[in-house]
Amino acid sequence: MPSLFQQIQAGKLWDFHGGVHPPTRKAQTAQKPIGVLPLPDRLYIPLRQHIGVAGHVLVSKGQRVLKGQPLTSADNSMAVPVHAPTSGTVMAIAEHTSAHPSALPEITITLVPDGLDEWRSRYPLNLATSDKLSLLERIQESGIAGMGGAGFPAHLKAGLTQPVDYLIINAVECEPYITADDALIQEGAITIVKGIDILCKLLNPKAVLIGIEDDKPIASAALKAACSQREHYYVRDVPTKYPSGGEKQLIQLLTNKEVPAGRRPIDIGIVMLNVGTAFAVAQAVLDDQPLLSRIVTVTGETLSQPQNVLALIGTPVSDLLTFCGYQQQTAGKVIMGGPMMGFTLPDLTVPIIKTTNCILAPSQYELPQPGNELDCIRCSACADACPASLLPQQLLWYSKAKDPAKLDEYNLFDCIECGACAYVCPSEIPLVQYYRVAKAEIREQQREAVKAEQAKARFEARNARLEREKQQRMARNQQLAQAREQAQKTGSNSNAVADALARIKAKKAEQPAPATNREQVLAEREAKKQQAREYQAAKAAANQQPDSVSETAKQEQAVSSEPTVNESATVEPANAKSAAVAAAIARAKAKKAAQAQAEQQETIVEAEQTKQPEAIEQSSPQAATDPRKAAIAAAIARAKAKKQADSEKS
Ligand code: SF4
Ligand code: SF4
Repeated sequence: MPSLFQQIQAGKLWDFHGGVHPPTRKAQTAQKPIGVLPLPDRLYIPLRQHIGVAGHVLVSKGQRVLKGQPLTSADNSMAVPVHAPTSGTVMAIAEHTSAHPSALPEITITLVPDGLDEWRSRYPLNLATSDKLSLLERIQESGIAGMGGAGFPAHLKAGLTQPVDYLIINAVECEPYITADDALIQEGAITIVKGIDILCKLLNPKAVLIGIEDDKPIASAALKAACSQREHYYVRDVPTKYPSGGEKQLIQLLTNKEVPAGRRPIDIGIVMLNVGTAFAVAQAVLDDQPLLSRIVTVTGETLSQPQNVLALIGTPVSDLLTFCGYQQQTAGKVIMGGPMMGFTLPDLTVPIIKTTNCILAPSQYELPQPGNELDCIRCSACADACPASLLPQQLLWYSKAKDPAKLDEYNLFDCIECGACAYVCPSEIPLVQYYRVAKAEIREQQREAVKAEQAKARFEARNARLEREKQQRMARNQQLAQAREQAQKTGSNSNAVADALARIKAKKAEQPAPATNREQVLAEREAKKQQAREYQAAKAAANQQPDSVSETAKQEQAVSSEPTVNESATVEPANAKSAAVAAAIARAKAKKAAQAQAEQQETIVEAEQTKQPEAIEQSSPQAATDPRKAAIAAAIARAKAKKQADSEKS
């Protein structure tokens, strides 16, 4: 018995339950070249175009942006940024009708192209030298989300760390009318395979399985040629059946493995990515080109030129329709997506987003309005067609009854909303619409339940905290009361107070009195006064001894000037003034003493004129040393000598 891998290598295919064969109607666009749309007047770029959260806006109204410049940031793992598809000016950041079945408005950046198509700087990576982290960062920063329609962030799938047996590339474009992937493969198979190489470096799978429907022979041949040099890359042509492009259905087709209810493909060692995603990964890594555009099938009998168009993300649907020769019909509708899973657009300003693969504008004959809904006749045709092996009629019953427990029991959330059941229903019951509403209600109830649970947890935590604090307060008060009671009993309460006061006083005594500036100044002033008093005493003594007056005055001046200069920064101005007055008095007294000395010397000279020199010298001991006195004495001596000589001559 060959192993599973050997069977896969041998080209064996399996089948899945149910499925339908609606008319494919792909011939309108399949063999035409890809048209390139002229630059639109406005681009409407929703912040969130994927499963996850929107990034933070990086631009402001009126700002000019370059082609490829990020408009939002990827600041968490579930965020995928959006980029400017061309250069231009941000005209508005406001709500705009969303490309969603609900048509609810969502925040959208409106960009006015300037026609220059000016790129930002680009930095391609070298696959051989780039590590996994830089590759994953590049994939995320390039804003790549699953382009098969789900919009799951590609970097999360490519960054899975669990062992991967098979990397499946989904090129099965099973929904009628749509040929966008077919056209992409025909023109870009080599780039797609380069993208698969990058994904293989990240995931390291045992084998790569590329599934493509057998009604696309040209695309299949292009893929086989591009993969011819790759080992363990297998292109498999699967039978045309709807919905063989569903994730679980294709896994079963290619590997005979079933993904258990509520589980993910990685849980059985499989990762699946769309062929358009692989192409976008190659552009991001090898050309540093973010996800700015995609191929959209614009088809339907109301168009004169249905074709595949390369459209910038954010292009209004009306521009694509005009480009393809749209002739609006009364009561006509425009569908985003295919006829099985698409939804009718509320208006034509809705933009093309990353997951848009088809715009269908059918005529009334081509896709007539559904008839009136009849009662279920329990024919079970829906169950036979369901590829997820569900019981659609039971789901319908419980959806109408709004019974979430029963819906959960019947695995409502395993429904892939393929529409096969509604397609076969003879009562023309829009089954998928019922399921979508039921899912939305259950999700809302779950959100409310989570919120209520969180609120309850917060309330209980608050109550517990308050109770805990109350118990702590009571315990503290009880301890204090017991301590007081004990103190009163032992009579030591007053002693304790006295002891405490004593401790405070002792502590104060131990602490050195803080030397304030004022006390310091008072001390210096007192020192000054003391110096002044000493100076007065010295001066009085000098008055008693005239010869020492000048010396004393100098000392006094030194005493009065030196401290004043040095301490002028710290003493009060009044103290400095008194010192200056004292110095002035000292100088006056010194001057007076000098005058008295001069008078005394004159008196001595006069006396010497009548005395012997020896007597003069005795009466004036300083004459011997004083040059003035010595000169006077010499003059007197010469006069006496002359007088004596004259008397001797006579
Ligand atoms: S829409 Fe859901 S219930 Fe109906 S066939 Fe598809 S998977 Fe089954
Ligand atoms: S196919 Fe329609 S009528 Fe028949 S069982 Fe299902 S829901 Fe009822």
